[in-house]
Amino acid sequence: MAESPDDLCPRPRRAPDSPTWPLAPPIFPAAVYCCDSPEQADQLLATGSLGYVYSRDSHPNAQLLAEKCRALHAAEQAVVCASGMAALGLAALAHAEAGDHVVVSHRLYGRTQVLFARELPRLGVRCSVVDVEDEAALRAALARGARLLLVETISNPLLTVPNLQRLADAAHTAGALLLVDNTFAGPCVCRPLEWGADLVMESLTKIMNGHSDVLLGLLCGQSSAWERVPQTHITWGATAGPFECWLADRGLSTLALRSERASANALHLAQALQARPAVAAVHYPGLPTHPNYETARRQFGGQSGAMIAFELATSGPAADQFIARVGRQIPFAPSLGDVSTTLSHPASTSHRGYSAAEQAALGITDRLIRLSVGIESAQSILAGLDLGWSDR
Ligand SMILES: *Cc1c(COP(=O)(O)O)cnc(C)c1O
Repeated sequence: MAESPDDLCPRPRRAPDSPTWPLAPPIFPAAVYCCDSPEQADQLLATGSLGYVYSRDSHPNAQLLAEKCRALHAAEQAVVCASGMAALGLAALAHAEAGDHVVVSHRLYGRTQVLFARELPRLGVRCSVVDVEDEAALRAALARGARLLLVETISNPLLTVPNLQRLADAAHTAGALLLVDNTFAGPCVCRPLEWGADLVMESLTKIMNGHSDVLLGLLCGQSSAWERVPQTHITWGATAGPFECWLADRGLSTLALRSERASANALHLAQALQARPAVAAVHYPGLPTHPNYETARRQFGGQSGAMIAFELATSGPAADQFIARVGRQIPFAPSLGDVSTTLSHPASTSHRGYSAAEQAALGITDRLIRLSVGIESAQSILAGLDLGWSDR
């Protein structure tokens, strides 16, 4: 008798075996894997590395992506998280507990500032926000029993470049770990572990994936800073879904090309913008006029990254006029790292969580524009920006 659809339809099946293998990796959406016996399940759950049981713990797409990211950063360990913020939260939760102290740079992505300076104190973790260039203030803050020091490789949005080796030394002297948010650089521009960092975080959402179609994060680092990370990652549910990992893995296949092209474009544009009368200042670590030019040259492998910030002169259009005019060619999209050039307005987007006084102290004005340079031709990007100066 033919089997009933009631029984046929829900029956689990194995994927067919093949002596050949697919050039593009398969997507494994399975939330759970079938085990041969309780003994096998017990063994897998205990070691975590020999096979998959439950996809919050691990799955093939997360493992493939984490492994590629680990190698790109020459790290000993790596995990993929549901977002960049989840990766930062994981680093904090794995390394700080009630009564502990963390120190963060005053130049941080707005949401990161909220996480460390407002959320962690709710859990009893004290946070000091310091100007890491102020050696005395940094040492004083670290001396209060700090567990973690957090900085960005290229700061958001004025693109300052801290000396990572000096910060790693200061953190280690005080018994703290250095955690670096490398999102604005990516591993083709900078690998902070080589400069003494213990942990590196990337928002894979940005340059690493490069196509604005995924939200993911990465935490990688040295085994000495890893003890609690796997447990915290899985238990707090900071893990990433298979399809997102698969997309980001594909995005990463062009990272080296994209990074090189975008950096070359950005240098060309930064130089051109310096010569535009309607631009009062250009912030780009690849320009000799940048205060951290020498540090950037040493820490970055020949590229200076895809991010530029510039200040519109008061004699020219206001930010909203400029953004409306160039919007025909360069979209106002408050993110970064896409293959196409986008612009953002830090005062109203990434740094809106800061008070007006805090913004002013950081040098963020209403006339500051942040450009995420894509891989188009430099001439066409410049032509797009040139639409902004007048209402021709
Ligand atoms: C976007 C971003 C984050 C947060 O990453 P998400 O993937 O959006 O959670 C953290 N740091 C910097 C510098 C960012 O640009």
